[in-house]
Amino acid sequence: MEKINITLPDKSIRSFEAGTTPQQVADSIGSGLARAVVVAKIDGDLKDLNHPIEHDINLELLTGDSPEGHDTLLHSTAHLMAQAVKELFPNAKITIGPTIENGFYYDFDVETSFSDEVLSEIESKMKELARSGQDIIRQEVSVQDAIKIFNGLDESYKVEIVEQINPDEKISMYKQSEFTDLCRGPHVSNTSKIKYFKLLSTSGAYWRGNENNKMLQRIYGTVFSSKDALKKHLHNLEEAKKRDHRKLGKELKLFTFDDEVGPGLPLWLPNGAVMVEELEKLAKESEQRGGYDVVRTPHLTKGTLYEKSGHLEHYKESMYPAMDVDGVDYYVKPMNCPHHHKIYSSSPRSYRELPVRLAEYGTCYRYEKSGQLFGLMRVRSLQMNDAHIYCTKEQFKEEFLAVCNMYLEYFDIFGIERYTMRLSLHSKEDLGKKYVNEPDLWLETEQWVREALVEGKLDFEEVPGEAAFYGPKIDVQVWSAIGKEFTLATNQVDFAIPSKFGLTYVDESGNEKTPLCIHRAPLGTHERFIGFLIEHFGGNFPLWLAPIQAVVLPLSDKFSDYANKVVKVLKDEGIRVKLNDRADKIGSKIRQAELDKINFMLIVGQKESDEETVSVRKRFEGDVGAMPLIVFKDKIVEEIKNRRLTHR
Ligand SMILES: [Zn+2]
Ligand SMILES: [Zn+2]
Repeated sequence: MEKINITLPDKSIRSFEAGTTPQQVADSIGSGLARAVVVAKIDGDLKDLNHPIEHDINLELLTGDSPEGHDTLLHSTAHLMAQAVKELFPNAKITIGPTIENGFYYDFDVETSFSDEVLSEIESKMKELARSGQDIIRQEVSVQDAIKIFNGLDESYKVEIVEQINPDEKISMYKQSEFTDLCRGPHVSNTSKIKYFKLLSTSGAYWRGNENNKMLQRIYGTVFSSKDALKKHLHNLEEAKKRDHRKLGKELKLFTFDDEVGPGLPLWLPNGAVMVEELEKLAKESEQRGGYDVVRTPHLTKGTLYEKSGHLEHYKESMYPAMDVDGVDYYVKPMNCPHHHKIYSSSPRSYRELPVRLAEYGTCYRYEKSGQLFGLMRVRSLQMNDAHIYCTKEQFKEEFLAVCNMYLEYFDIFGIERYTMRLSLHSKEDLGKKYVNEPDLWLETEQWVREALVEGKLDFEEVPGEAAFYGPKIDVQVWSAIGKEFTLATNQVDFAIPSKFGLTYVDESGNEKTPLCIHRAPLGTHERFIGFLIEHFGGNFPLWLAPIQAVVLPLSDKFSDYANKVVKVLKDEGIRVKLNDRADKIGSKIRQAELDKINFMLIVGQKESDEETVSVRKRFEGDVGAMPLIVFKDKIVEEIKNRRLTHR
C-alpha cells in the first residue's frame, strides 16, 4: 500500500495509507476528537470527513465550535430537517435551505400547515433519524443526471434550480438513506454527528421571494456543538425577544410612529428625546476635546450640488424625488458631506489651519423600501453623528487613529465588549468601475490606514473588494450584551471628492494642494444607536442616559410638601426627577418604578421629612438605606457626571 504524509496544524507529520479519510485520522488521534470533529480542511479547502486522501496534504480537523464547523453542522441539520419532513409528509416538495447567522431555514411546498405540534413532531423525527446513524454520502453528477434524479423524486423545485446551472458543470448532491439534496457541501459524514438542535419557528415565504409565486412554508432552526452552547443560544433568543427595541421603545415611551406622519419617520417622545440630547452632549464634549468645530447645514439643497458630488449619479435610488422651487430642482439631503465640503471651501485655507474638523449632528433623509423599514434600525429620516476631517497626507495617520480611539472611548462608556473593525479595501479588477481609477492612491491610503490601525494596536480584519467608491473604509460591528450583532458605523477615507469639489490648501512653499478627507460617524445615527442601546441594556440604561433618573415616592399625601422639596432640590441640579404622589400603596408605586426601569427611588415619610433625608432604593440593589438629601444629591450628581456604567 502506498503511504502518504499528513501534516497537522501543530506541524507534526503522520504517515497513513493512501485513501485514509479525515475521520480515520481523527480516530487515530483520540476518541474525543473523533466524536467532536465535523469537517476537515485539506490544504485550505473544506472537505467531508469521508473524503479519501490520496497524497501528501496539510490537514485541519474542525469541530462544531469553529465557524466553518458550525456552518457545516447547520447545513447538515437543515438537510436532516428536510429528510424528516419528507418522511412525515411524503408529498412535500423541498426547495432551498440555506444557513443564516447561528441558524438555518428550509422552505417547503406542502399542504399541511406547520403548527407548533407539527414542528415538535418533525423535531422528534429528526432525533430518530440522527440516532439511527445514517451515512451522508456525496455524489458528483452531471446536470443532466441531476435533472433525471430529481424528476424521479418528483422534486420539481430542485429540477428548476438545476436547469439554471451551466450544463457543462458537475454538481454535487448529498444522500442519506432515501433522501437526496442538491448541495455544494461539505456535510457531516453521519447523521449521528448532529445532536444539539432545536426547531424555532415557522413563517410563510414566496418561492424565490417573488409574491407572484406560490407561498411556501419556512421552518427556522438551529444547532450547536454542545448542549450548553445550544442552551445559551436559546436563552439569548428569549432575552432578545424581551429586549426588542420596538417593544421596549413602546413600554418605556421612547419613540413612536404615526401613520399620518409616515412610515420610517420616528417621532421621539420626551423620554427618547432625553437620550438623543444626552448622546449629542457626549459627542459634542469629546469632539470639542478632539479639536472639532461644530457647523450646521440646511436640509434642502439644489440638485446641482448633488450632481457635483456624484450622489445623483450613484445614490439616486436612495434619495427622495426632486421638488421644484422657482423652476429649480431641490432635494432633501441624503448626506451631509457636500455641505461640509462647501464650508471648507468657503474661505482660502493655509496648511496652518489643517486639520479642519467639521462636526454636525446632521439630519438626512434616505429612501428605504417600505418592506425594508424596521423599527429604529431602518428608517427614512436619520440624525447622524457626522464629521469630516480635512488634512494633509502627513497628518492622515494621526487623524485616523484619533477617530479609531474615539470609537474605543465610546465602547468603554457603553460597555461594548465585543466588536470588530473591518478594513474594506479596493479590488484591482474593479478599478475604474466600482472604484476611482487611482491605483497608486488606493495602495497608499490603504497602507496608511493599515499602519494607523497597527500602531493603535486595534484588532482588525481586511476585506478586499468592499471599499467605498472613493477610498478605503472601516466598518465597525458591535455585539450587544446578549450577543446580537449590529453594524454601527463606518469610517472612510476619501481621496477623490476633495479634488472634485476643488478643495485646496496652500502648503509651506506656497503651492496649492488638495487635502484628504475622512468621513466618520462613530455613534452612527441616533436612530440605530439608540435602537442598539435599548437592546444592549434591555432598557436598563446607565444613570446618565436614563430618561428618568429618580422618582420621589411619598408614603402618603401628608408628606407631599417635603416630597416636592426633594424634587425641587434635585431638579435645580439638573437631575431628571419625577414625583409619584398618586394615592396608591407604596408597594405598588415601587413596582411601577421598577417597570419603568428607574435608577433611584426616593421614599419619604415622617422620619425622612423630620430629618431632611431620603430612603434610597437603587435599581438591581434594592434598599440601600436612608441618607441626608444633600449627600444623595452630591452622589447622584457625581455618578451622572462620570457617565458611570451601572449594572445591567
Ligand atoms: Zn447542504
Ligand atoms: Zn461624509
